[in-house]
Amino acid sequence: MTFSKNESLCKQELQSWQLTHLQETLERVYYLVPFYKKKFDDAGVLLKDIKSLKDLSKLPFTKKQDLRDNYPFGMFSVDMDQIVRIHSSSGTTGKPTVVGYTEHDMSIWAEVMGRAFTMGGVTCQDIMQNSHGYGLFTGGLGFHSAAERMKIAVIPSSTGFTSRQLLLLKDFGATVLTATPSFALHMAEVAKNEGYDIQKDFKLKVGFFGAEPTSDGMKKEIASIWGIDYHEVYGLSEIIGPGVACNCKHSNLLHIHEDHFYPEIIDPKTGEVLPEGERGELVITTLTKQGLPIIRYRTGDITSLTRIPCKCGRTLGRIESIVGRSDDMLLINGVNVFPSQIEHVLSKQDGVTLNYQIIADKKGYLDKLEIDIELNPEMMSDDIGDLDRLKKTIQHALLNHLYINVDVKLVAPKSLTRSEGKAIRVIDKRQK
Ligand SMILES: [Zn+2]
Repeated sequence: MTFSKNESLCKQELQSWQLTHLQETLERVYYLVPFYKKKFDDAGVLLKDIKSLKDLSKLPFTKKQDLRDNYPFGMFSVDMDQIVRIHSSSGTTGKPTVVGYTEHDMSIWAEVMGRAFTMGGVTCQDIMQNSHGYGLFTGGLGFHSAAERMKIAVIPSSTGFTSRQLLLLKDFGATVLTATPSFALHMAEVAKNEGYDIQKDFKLKVGFFGAEPTSDGMKKEIASIWGIDYHEVYGLSEIIGPGVACNCKHSNLLHIHEDHFYPEIIDPKTGEVLPEGERGELVITTLTKQGLPIIRYRTGDITSLTRIPCKCGRTLGRIESIVGRSDDMLLINGVNVFPSQIEHVLSKQDGVTLNYQIIADKKGYLDKLEIDIELNPEMMSDDIGDLDRLKKTIQHALLNHLYINVDVKLVAPKSLTRSEGKAIRVIDKRQK
């Protein structure tokens, strides 16, 4: 079952929809957003040059910095009387990026989230505990508004206050949980410490997680601890918020709602569009948004795109779970390393947890990589010889998978700094 008919259009219907809406969007931004008029003029591209979807690659990219340079509302294509919601990034590393939604945009957002909920089998009979942060961050309210429109009972518990979250989860009997993956694991850890029987005390059957790159191992761990179906929701505020893509029950790949968000995969260094199936940076053009239409936005997220048909019958293309950020990517002695690759290796090892920290540093002229990993509590009583063997096994597995030597340190359970929101996995001590 699908939520909207656009999820299963045939290729010709989809492409014709995309081209029509692309041309409308280009016209909108050219005449209504001075930034785009200048950008297209400087690139020497005329609107009439865009005759096919492939022609989109003639247009320049939009970057996060462009949103900052036009802070706060310079990229909006409507007057403020049309805007019904404003979100913004935290702006910890410069001016925040600000996004605005019209009523029409809010409907699109609810529609794509409705598709995600339907992929997870959620109906108006369900109760959803929304443990995403509320506020300027799009996670909390993005899930909330869409759930309300689908008449799903939503508990706006937001993130943090873990003991209270668990109390609500048990007493209100939520069947659906939405959170960041690291918070879902944190909740499980606290639940165990507080003496809950996770499988018996809670009624959860499905969870929607996102906002952090997550390995298959971590997804499986969350699904098995909570006894739920794991669905990943991908999104970013510059495009709409959560709901840009989500996986159905038949696939680990995420259906991207390409009737609204047109995807391209590019080589992050050269900007060239890569062939289907190759891994690179995801670039998205919004096709239907009014408040903040965006052309060829560089998401910074590394993934690949396939249009191999999915068993569920949806014809929307699918992207891999985000492998890493093009700006999170660590370059270690010339080798690209993503935290998710390390997590993938750790998820297959007994004796250690997925609480780890990656520390990149210099030794002389060379880069060196250290990974501190928390042991499972039961490993602590074992003798030094066992720990040494475990350390060597992990080092060997990392070398095989990443092609680099990694210095592994096994540390006591709960000794690494925890964060209740997004996990900070990487510390780069090298001179930038
Ligand atoms: Zn599918």
